[in-house]
Amino acid sequence: MPSKFAMLLDWTIGHLNELKEQGHRFVHVHSETLAALRRQPAPDPHWTSQAAARSSAQQSEPADGAPLPAVSAGAAPDPAQAVQSTLAQAPIQVAGESAGGWELRGAGGTGGGRSREEKAAAFEALRKRVLACVRCRNLAAARRHVVFGAGDIDAALMFVGEAPGMEEDQQGEPFVGAAGQLLTKILQAMGLDRQSVYIGNILKCRPDTPGQSSGNRKPTPSEMQTCVPFLEEQIDLIGPKVLVALGATAVEGLLGKTVGITRLRGHWQTYRGIPLMPTFHPAYLLYNQARTERRKFWEDMLQVMERLQMPISKKQRAYFSAEGPFLTRR
Ligand code: SF4
Repeated sequence: MPSKFAMLLDWTIGHLNELKEQGHRFVHVHSETLAALRRQPAPDPHWTSQAAARSSAQQSEPADGAPLPAVSAGAAPDPAQAVQSTLAQAPIQVAGESAGGWELRGAGGTGGGRSREEKAAAFEALRKRVLACVRCRNLAAARRHVVFGAGDIDAALMFVGEAPGMEEDQQGEPFVGAAGQLLTKILQAMGLDRQSVYIGNILKCRPDTPGQSSGNRKPTPSEMQTCVPFLEEQIDLIGPKVLVALGATAVEGLLGKTVGITRLRGHWQTYRGIPLMPTFHPAYLLYNQARTERRKFWEDMLQVMERLQMPISKKQRAYFSAEGPFLTRR
């Protein structure tokens, strides 16, 4: 009778084969899952007893022929190693693991040579510092939430926006308003989701608008200079392969350039050795729905995908020449 663990492995392999038959080439594995697989859990008693029986019978494969990893005689088998071995034998590549092809999730840097656990701990320590920050007294007094950032801390692709708006301030999440919904659609069009990238802002607190219950304002240079070191720490820890600066303020905060975004967009820049693509802020695309602007934005995203060596379908290539449904309000 196979253990639950062995049955789960069989099911996983079967599922991966089904995905492959459906044409999928990659699966997403969350960085936390990969980290968990690298840990050394206590031996599964079912597995251990099976291994002992297998060892005594000099078997290296189970009776049903499922490609379980071989178990060396006398050694306590390691379920984590077994799962990793199974993933390595998987019929399709696993995003986040070096597979010689496209990789995105979990493909960021190591945060200055740290282990994944050290990196996660450093990120959490940074988050706590930012959440408690009151360097900008007026912003700290007016905010509902500090909007630290969201996504995969091992992401290869990181988006940087300007500052939280009213909805972001209320929810404590970046890009959740109308512009955020558009960004989500754009990510979907790229074959991504919000969990496979990291999204942050130049400013972590909403620029206050005294006397107004709504509306947003651009961060002042002083506010940007005060807050941007937090973003720099985030970027250093994440170690993305590509940065996307959404809008002129993001470019100004990261590069110190005040060149118009219309001139700069589409031209690769470099931030601390990381390729940076300046492009329009999604809010601009909501404001100006001209097809030419949407097309320019999508061309910038295609450049980003190419830089990350992501697969690009014919349909994706053709988006910019058609009415992209993801670049419209509905
Ligand atoms: S905007 Fe940044 S620096 Fe200013 S109070 Fe908020 S977290 Fe602190």
